[in-house]
Parts: sequence; C-alpha cells; structure tokens
Amino acid sequence: TLRQLYDRYRSVPIIYRIGVAFVLGSLVGLTVGEPATRLEPLGDLFVRLLQMIVIPIIVFTLLMGARRLSPSNLGKIGGQVVALYLVTTAIAIGIGLFVANLINPGTGLEVADATVETKEAPDIVEVFMNIVPTNPVGAMAAGDVLPTIFFTIVFGLALAYLQDEYDVNSAVHEGAETVFELAETGAEAMFKIVWGVMEYGVIGVFALMATTFGNAGVDAIAPFAKLIGALAIAVGLHIGVTYLLIIQWGLLRESPLDFLRGSKEAMVTALSIRSSSGTLPVTMNDADENFGVDEEVYSFSLPLGATINMDGTAMYQGVAAVFAANMVGQTLTIGEQFTVVATALLASVGTAGVPGSGLIMLTMVLTQLGLPLEVVGMVAGVDPILDRLRTMNNVTGDLAVTTLVAGWNDKIDRTATVWSETDVPDS
Ligand code: ASP
Repeated sequence: TLRQLYDRYRSVPIIYRIGVAFVLGSLVGLTVGEPATRLEPLGDLFVRLLQMIVIPIIVFTLLMGARRLSPSNLGKIGGQVVALYLVTTAIAIGIGLFVANLINPGTGLEVADATVETKEAPDIVEVFMNIVPTNPVGAMAAGDVLPTIFFTIVFGLALAYLQDEYDVNSAVHEGAETVFELAETGAEAMFKIVWGVMEYGVIGVFALMATTFGNAGVDAIAPFAKLIGALAIAVGLHIGVTYLLIIQWGLLRESPLDFLRGSKEAMVTALSIRSSSGTLPVTMNDADENFGVDEEVYSFSLPLGATINMDGTAMYQGVAAVFAANMVGQTLTIGEQFTVVATALLASVGTAGVPGSGLIMLTMVLTQLGLPLEVVGMVAGVDPILDRLRTMNNVTGDLAVTTLVAGWNDKIDRTATVWSETDVPDS
C-alpha cells in the first residue's frame, strides 16, 4: 500500500535519499535540458529554508560549545589541548584553501542567476575589525554570521565564568544554568528543524540539480569530481604533513607509522559512520590501549575534540568556499580567505560531530561571504563521500593532539603500547 511505500521510503537514511535525488535530478537536467530549469523555485525554497536556520543555530549551538569550554575545564593541559586544536584547525583551513585555489573545482558550473554583486574587496584590517559587532542584535538581525559567532562565544564564556564564580545555589548560578539549558533545548529544536528541512531537501536537491544540469549539460559533472578530489588531496596533506611529520615525528619524536597503526580503528570507524561523536568510544579506546595515554588527558580532550576540533570539517569550508566562488565566476580575495578561516574556525566550536553537520556549517560560511547558498544543496548530493573524508580527518586530529599533549606532560606510556613497535631515537 501507499503507507508501506512511504514507510519504506522514510526508513532509508535521509542523506542517501538526497544522494539519489542528486543523481536523478542531474539525469533529468541532462536529458530534458533547458526546460528543466523551470524547477528552479523548488530549489530556491530549499535555500530559503536553510537561510532561515543559520542565525538561530549559531546562537544555540555556540552557547553549548562555550559551556564545554568552561574555565573549570581549562587547566594547563586543557589550555594546551584547546590551543593546539585551534592551531591545527587553522592550518587545515589554510591547506583546504590552498589546494582548492590550485584546482578551482567549481569552474564550469556557473549558477543560473549569479545574483551576487561583486563587492569591493575589504582589506585585512577591516576583515578583522568587522568580527566585532558594534551592535550584537543588529548583527543577528542582519544575518551577519561572523560578528554573531563572536558575540555568542563571548557571551557564552561570560556565562560559564558566572556559573563557576557563584555559589551553586545562588540565583546567578542557576540563571546561567537556565540559559545554557535553554540553549540546549533550542539547539535540539533547531536540529529537529534541520532534519525537516532535509526531508524537503530531497525535492530541493532534485530541483537544484535538474536546473544546474539543464543549464550546463555534461560540463557540470567534472566540478563535483574535482570537489571530491580537492578535499581528498587536502585531507591527505593535512594528515601526512601536519599530523605525521610535524606533530608525531617532529614534536613527539615518534614514528608516524606507529601513529597510523594506533589510530586505524578510529579512522576506519569514522570513515564508515561519518560521526566523530559516534566514533568517540573507539577513539578513546585507541588513546588508551594503543597509545597508552592517561585517562585524565583523553577523557577530557577526546570528547572535547569530537565537538570543537574538526579539522576536516573546517578544511572543507575552505574548499567549498572556493567551489562556490568559482560558480559565480569570482576569486576569493585574501581578505575573504581570512574571513573563511575566521568563520570556519569559530563556527567549528559549536558544530556537533554528527553526520552532515559540516554541511550546516557551510551555510554559515557562505552566508558570511555572500556566496550563493544553492551550493549547499548541490554539494549535499555528494556529501556522504565528503563527510567520510572530513570525519576521518576530524578524529585523527583529535588523536594527534591528544598524544602530543600527553607526551609533553608525561602522561603517556611509551613502552607497553604501539609506540614500542618501531624503535625511535630517544627524546
Ligand atoms: N560528520 C562530521 C563529524 O562528525 C562533521 C561534518 O559533517 O563535517 O565529525
């Protein structure tokens, strides 16, 4: 019956349904050609639904992120972990931008209505100045992403301080608690909405792809392959150079191969389930059994890493921003590239390690840059592939930093574990 058919349909994970819509929409666009572009309003509706959730999701999720960064969590080791998480993430975004600028994955995929007005390129000083809103509510109302992110993190940290400073039973302590709980509920509600929007996304992505291929024909195939290729190269570089060469070999004085051997369970799990949070038990197990990291370090650093340290996700923002700029025939100025770094870095604090959250983050970055949000719908079709690469990078980054900080603080057992398998020069 119809009911059974519908239940069967709903039982397929949403991201795969979107993948099918991506393929079918592309095929329809390719075969029908120009007339397929009449589906455009259906795609635009999807884009508007995404726009609707950008600001609220930033505010709610970042408040939760700030709560986790609360001062009581940040001792010396905690500080090192957070600092390294941020530095490695910034490097990741730089690598993503670098590779994407070489490959220019989005060329040949011009969007139908390149409505984006070419702005005057802001200079660097202005870019950084604009992170600080003169009027937080105004920034939110105007949909200015970066100042909204900045203010929300500052506000969240202030709340976390208050909670720490005041007596457990005081009104201020309880008030802070309440605001955080409100944010928690708000974030849950926003994610409910996201999933609803994604349900519509099956139609939206179909329409977007039909329109794209209806306009561009077969020329539109290569850009998506290049997008995947660019991310794969960037992930390979970041893992190979930043984690293996610099962190493991250079700073920790351990064999890069040992690190890979010790991380493989987490990496494979992340590849298959596309969630850092879901992979967390495996990541913790690797830290404990394979690397001999003290529980006191990894029990803090890994859960934190699964939420705030997303090198692959942040790197993807760089790649996708170049992809989007290519599509409207623009190149990102240096100032805009810095904007990508700042937005992705700050936004990664609140984004959860669940499948597809990098896609939501992309709406923030593109909004901030004034690039077309259609891109989110278009890349959603290949996101199951991209997400795997991102998530694998995310958890590997958590382990790379965790082992390094543990090593610095003598909280690692280098004898009974994977480290002893290859001899290394004494440090
Ligand atoms: N799935 C990723 C993770 O869990 C986040 C993302 O979508 O990039 O780490």
